Amino acid sequence: MTTSATPTADTAAPQDAKRVLLAAPRGYCAGVDRAVVTVEKALELYGPPVYVRKEIVHNKHVVTTLEKRGAIFVEETDEVPEGATVVFSAHGVAPIVHEEAKALSLKTIDATCPLVTKVHREAVRFADDDFDILLIGHEGHEEVVGTSGEAPNHITLVEGPDDVANVEVRDPDKVVWLSQTTLSVDETMETVRRLREKFPKLQDPPSDDICYATQNRQLAVKQMAKDCDLMIVVGSRNSSNSVRLVEVAIEHGSRDGHLVDYADEIDEAWLDGVRTVGVTSGASVPEILVRGVLDFLAERGYGEPQPVTAAEESLLFALPKELRRDLKAAGMSDQMKHDAGALGDAGQLH
Ligand code: SF4
Repeated sequence: MTTSATPTADTAAPQDAKRVLLAAPRGYCAGVDRAVVTVEKALELYGPPVYVRKEIVHNKHVVTTLEKRGAIFVEETDEVPEGATVVFSAHGVAPIVHEEAKALSLKTIDATCPLVTKVHREAVRFADDDFDILLIGHEGHEEVVGTSGEAPNHITLVEGPDDVANVEVRDPDKVVWLSQTTLSVDETMETVRRLREKFPKLQDPPSDDICYATQNRQLAVKQMAKDCDLMIVVGSRNSSNSVRLVEVAIEHGSRDGHLVDYADEIDEAWLDGVRTVGVTSGASVPEILVRGVLDFLAERGYGEPQPVTAAEESLLFALPKELRRDLKAAGMSDQMKHDAGALGDAGQLH
């Protein structure tokens, strides 16, 4: 789902100049943007507290900022008081979670990313056709838990290429693979290659499960990694797509790579002898955090960021329909718009 691939970095900088290559796209994807605005709008409309099951997106800064505004994050549905409003996170939930919420008479707003919902629907459809579904993903990740819950008797989790040897199916003629949306594209393709060696009739998903945002952020990192002595990825440790960006950077030639939530986590020693620093951010990261890293580097003599553009993105999802309905009834805007700068995508630097 990538759209273009034109590296635009100026590689003609003086040999000894300290420089920054800045990936594009980076940061907020359409699903994260929608989920964050959903909580903001719910707080505005219903007033605090608004409960959110699990982290709305996997980013420390986003969660902390929303908490300050009155969001209460819980791990499980039964922690939400009866009759209260609860938002389901972008990673999606299993059908049983909807049933639990109904039993507690909760008002639910489902901020599951539509691209995760698409994978849920695929799982339901292949399970209805009695396929064995090999779901490539990370055990325990919320998205995997949610997708698996759609068809628990048909889904087998495959954690990566090394897991393929252990996979058993009922009928090798009726097997399909699906995946978590935020995996490494290259590693997933290797897992599929091995699965197909074992099950030659393995079917592909109807369309890419690894989403456009994951693919595009990895593509930008691949384009710049070989020119980087160090790649700094802004993102949280529980953010799958952010962790993958560090791995992709190292695999594609960056000499070093680190994940940081904030600029103040950068260890000065990482910069020893480093001429070129690559900077990018995961799909759940507001641009304000990237700016913090760029300021940190500028203070240490690194030049103006040079963009490396791998793709253009313009996808925008509408807010969840149940929230749009209530916003309209209250005479409030149901358009995707942040109500404050700290969580808004402050705009790309180019
Ligand atoms: S990373 Fe992809 S699947 Fe996940 S929220 Fe963003 S667009 Fe949706």
